Amino acid sequence: MNIYGHIKKANNELAVIFNEDNMKIIKNELIVQAIMDSWLYLNKFIKNVLPDWTQYFNSRLENIRAEELLITTDMVKDSFTQYERIIKEREVKSYINRYIKLMESLLTFNKPFEESCAICQGELFYYTDLVNSIVFKECSTCGTHFDPLTDKAIVHKGSQVRPSTRFELLNEGINEL
Ligand SMILES: [Zn+2]
Repeated sequence: MNIYGHIKKANNELAVIFNEDNMKIIKNELIVQAIMDSWLYLNKFIKNVLPDWTQYFNSRLENIRAEELLITTDMVKDSFTQYERIIKEREVKSYINRYIKLMESLLTFNKPFEESCAICQGELFYYTDLVNSIVFKECSTCGTHFDPLTDKAIVHKGSQVRPSTRFELLNEGINEL
């Protein structure tokens, strides 16, 4: 099977996330499983283009615990718009970029319809700095960090950073369920 065959298979695996029922009631397990199933078809190809990201993503998936993710209906709705574009993408490099973006939108907490970067209007994703034990949001375009509650730009050097967990986000009062 060539790369286009693999892309088609990967898209089919992701489709389950966006069926009508699954978009109404978010099931983390189902989303994580669909992502893992899609990744099996793409891993080899993306590794040739982006070895570092592939290594990062492999380790992310190995360590992921579905119940620790906070995935909102807004995140899935926003990702669906991206999914509709990705399935029409014919250029491999662009497909890979869209796939990476889609993975971030689904697996890293964000508020796609509520907020954007004050400087460049880019999208904000929530991360936890494990050394300083703080949650911050980072603009995916300009890289600025913001305090999640005051929205003030902050500067910190995080040597150990990973996407925020459900517990951390609820604990900080960033999202209520
Ligand atoms: Zn920005």
